[in-house]
Amino acid sequence: MGKDKVTEEYGSLLFTDAVMQERLPKPTYKELKQVIEEGKKLDLSIANEVAHAMKEWALEKGATHYAHWFQPLTGITSEKHDSFITPKDDGSVLMSFSGKELIQGEPDASSFPSGGLRATFEARGYTAWDPSSPAFIKDEVLCIPTAFISYTGEALDKKTPLLRSQVALEGQAKRVLELFGRPAKHVMTTVGPEQEYFLIKEEDFQKRPDLIMCGRTLFGCEPVKGQELEEHYFGAIRPTVNAFMKEVDDELWKLGVPAKTKHNEVAPGQHELAPIFEQGSLAIDDNLLTMEKLKLLATHHGLACLEHEKPFDYVNGSGKHNNWSICADGKNLLEPGAQPNENLQFLVFLAALIAAVDTHADLLRMSVASAGNDHRLGANEAPPAIVSVFLGDELDEIVEALIHDEATEAHDRTRIDLGVPSLPTVLQDTTDRNRTSPFAFTGNKFEFRMCGSQQNLSDPNVVLNTAVAEQCDEFATAMAGKVGDEFTSCALAWVKQTLRDHHRIIFEGNGYSQEWEQEAERRGLPNLKTTPDALPTMVKPENVAFFDKYGVLNEAEVHARYVSKAEQYSKLLNIEANTMVYMARSLYLPALFDYSGDIATSVATKAELGIEATAEKELVKTLTNGINAIYEATADLESNNADARAIEDPQAQCDAYRDAVIPSMEHLRASVDAMEKICGADYWPVPSYNSLLFWV
Ligand code: ADP
Ligand code: MG
Repeated sequence: MGKDKVTEEYGSLLFTDAVMQERLPKPTYKELKQVIEEGKKLDLSIANEVAHAMKEWALEKGATHYAHWFQPLTGITSEKHDSFITPKDDGSVLMSFSGKELIQGEPDASSFPSGGLRATFEARGYTAWDPSSPAFIKDEVLCIPTAFISYTGEALDKKTPLLRSQVALEGQAKRVLELFGRPAKHVMTTVGPEQEYFLIKEEDFQKRPDLIMCGRTLFGCEPVKGQELEEHYFGAIRPTVNAFMKEVDDELWKLGVPAKTKHNEVAPGQHELAPIFEQGSLAIDDNLLTMEKLKLLATHHGLACLEHEKPFDYVNGSGKHNNWSICADGKNLLEPGAQPNENLQFLVFLAALIAAVDTHADLLRMSVASAGNDHRLGANEAPPAIVSVFLGDELDEIVEALIHDEATEAHDRTRIDLGVPSLPTVLQDTTDRNRTSPFAFTGNKFEFRMCGSQQNLSDPNVVLNTAVAEQCDEFATAMAGKVGDEFTSCALAWVKQTLRDHHRIIFEGNGYSQEWEQEAERRGLPNLKTTPDALPTMVKPENVAFFDKYGVLNEAEVHARYVSKAEQYSKLLNIEANTMVYMARSLYLPALFDYSGDIATSVATKAELGIEATAEKELVKTLTNGINAIYEATADLESNNADARAIEDPQAQCDAYRDAVIPSMEHLRASVDAMEKICGADYWPVPSYNSLLFWV
């Protein structure tokens, strides 16, 4: 039977398990599998054989170069291309790739942000192959997913702590499963990231310095219509967008990225792509590839793809839901089982998760903090900055019963031995999904909805994995030596007590409401509204100890991440402020001079003819006042930005950007937007929201 095009091409640019099995000698393949699955050390002779097979495969696919593909603290991916050529004496070349080149690379690390790490240690860094993420070919380059580490072993990237957190969680979850008499060979997290983005016309994009420099509009008055008609969500996809989405799917499928769902989102011009979930770190690599393809392929269709969290005021911004679960030897641990004992195990993991989110709510909030995401969280379009857990009616009822030590006697659920409630096999509740909750149980997984659309999902997953590892550790330690009925009753008691201790984090109501903010404060839940509020939680002594205890990040690495995030926040805002000053002076003011000047000339000409131009006179006055307001607001912003830029302490600098620069930016924007409303369209120097949002 012939294959269709998709099955034929799916994964054709990926060095998959099947390719390895086909091309590697059996013993080499077996050894490599152990490296991948059990984290065994890779020795050089194996690496040489793998490198050779990889190179031969890559050459057949037309590759000429290789690159270590890694994720510095900026969160985006980096790559430097080296060709396979080795010159021979006779003037010809050989295409070669050694095991050493596969497992270790040495990029010039000095230009990547390190949060001060490299200053205190070695200046150099190296990249090391992550064999759990397959190599792939992109634009004739063999890309090898790698971690980025300093020569003294400090993680300089986003991937290393993620891999460490997965190891920590796997180890602790295995202890729990062992106690249940179900030892697992392999425990992993599963992640499904839903990616939102906007598409606009490329020619419009090119006319807006704010979009080019900052990825979002810094000016723009309210469009005549927004998203109120609710016509865009799941609406018919227009041909240009459809052609783009199709090319994205084709390219991603070749790379083995399981792109599954595509649809129009709530805001005009907004869309979403959701993949089928994969092992955590692989899902994040694939999400980074997805973001890259979306951006680059848009230009083939005369489009620009905006991945920023808030490209436009007045309509929704973009997020990235992080769907998350744990899986042991192929079985989802957040799927309630059919047997009471399996249900107890489900309840232990559920309670561990609830406790993890409550204990580290501040770190989870921190993990999604960025200048871009500050525009969304708490703005009635995304969850608030307060972390809470939503369980849904069925599960909430069970949890309440456990907390109050009552039997759950509802419907089909009966109380069984030792008080372990029997759970319905499928808790999926499609009618009752609370879109306002930051952390929602959705049937057999949790959905963390606070993440920003352009962020690398490593940070939230590092926090989540480590926090759950900690709870599994506590459970396993408390249950040590307990077997049989004693274990069952102690485990159930642990579940009940844990749920009681962390009950405050569960909230089933409307997360967008004012009342919730007050209620959350009464419950003592953190409400870290802005990035400068959230970042310092990272370096609290108890949080430093937490990351250190599970071998995820040591104190220096935590500190480096804090400094780097703080610097990134301030640098971004500096660029936004600079761009605003530039646009005001070189685009908006000259346009308004022209427009008001032309009207003034017309007023004078009409006066010579003895005609009183009342409306035009009024308009010139308003425009002149507006020009003066813009002129002053620009000077204010420039001076406040200069003050903030001069601050050396990273935290004080972030605070200054939030407290002094952002209000000046808002003030300047308001004065320009007010003029956009009354300026002649032919004079206005950039495309307006009316054309940006509705023409794709
Ligand atoms: P939504 O209604 O929020 O768009 P969907 O039901 O379409 O949600 O699924 C969202 C994502 O959840 C998909 O990417 C899917 O692969 C992912 N997902 C499903 N099951 C799991 C799981 N066990 N672990 C992680 N992600 C999962
Ligand atoms: Mg979702």
